[in-house]
Amino acid sequence: MNTFDLTSNPHRRFNPLTREWVLVSPHRTQRPWQGQFESVPLEAPVTYDPSCYLCPGNARAGGVRNPAYTGTFVFDNDFAALEPGTPASEMQQTGLLIAHSEAGRCRVVCFSPRHDLTMARMSVPELRLVVNTWVREFSALASDPRIQSVQIFENRGAMMGCSNSHPHGQIWANEMRPNELAKELRAFADYRQMHGTTLLHDYLELELKKQERLVAANDHFVLLVPFWAVWPFETLLVSRRPVSALDELNDEERNALADILRQATIRYDNLFRTSFPYTMGFHQRPTDGGDYLEFHLHAHFYPPLLRSATIKKFMVGYEMLAMPQRDFTAETAAQWLRDVPGQHYLD
Ligand SMILES: [Zn+2]
Ligand SMILES: [Zn+2]
Repeated sequence: MNTFDLTSNPHRRFNPLTREWVLVSPHRTQRPWQGQFESVPLEAPVTYDPSCYLCPGNARAGGVRNPAYTGTFVFDNDFAALEPGTPASEMQQTGLLIAHSEAGRCRVVCFSPRHDLTMARMSVPELRLVVNTWVREFSALASDPRIQSVQIFENRGAMMGCSNSHPHGQIWANEMRPNELAKELRAFADYRQMHGTTLLHDYLELELKKQERLVAANDHFVLLVPFWAVWPFETLLVSRRPVSALDELNDEERNALADILRQATIRYDNLFRTSFPYTMGFHQRPTDGGDYLEFHLHAHFYPPLLRSATIKKFMVGYEMLAMPQRDFTAETAAQWLRDVPGQHYLD
């Protein structure tokens, strides 16, 4: 009689953060990875693009001109999805038709004045400036009594619908808790009540012991492929100390965050020797003034690539109608990300 085996039998895995399942079908990929590289034409690296609305000194929508910034640069999105002046409303509810006004802020963070850089091509001190900027923005937005949550993220690459290759991210601040944060908060709160620790503290202990899904680490952060990963090369970045947001990181931890972001993005670029597309972002405590000791700072990387620089995963069919599904396992993905060189392939 055959015994059940996570490396070859179809199974589902539970995500304790969202309390959702992912279907894993490892038997569909028995072939070993061939290390498929394609010569994807790289854009000619220009350090300054006169037509880029994020480059220093250039004009944006409405004629506003960027300053000649030398580090990071932050401004309110000219086409913001949320606006601070949105009039308040009572919940508008007519039977099944429910709506609520939503005020907020949308900020754009330029990581560097250099048009041609990405996080993988920036130095640790340069990335530390980005971390500082995130902390400053988080704290400023958190001090606004109307703001309940702050979402810091980067959407990178044309494949992700990002129209400008200038290194930049976004910060959206809401009057409410968005869906993903709300799901995680429930899980974190229940876990702390039952175990007295944070869910990710215990999960990290487990992963450090097992060593099966680790990708990279330094003194203060660990990058791993979560057991329940949906995207082929999805990773989770967890702080070793259970802090609830970026503003609680000390000086050394902020440097370590810059370092691990560089390590992560270099490994991604090296995997298919391309400028690796992804959505990444931090999950942090709500900003309503509560302590949220149950919450544990972390970031998710959700990259779409599956087998090469051009072959991406589609979330269609069964995944739209039922649940997400993947073929090769999280352990295999972690192995591949561990096995690529830690130095950027262009260096
Ligand atoms: Zn630019
Ligand atoms: Zn999360």
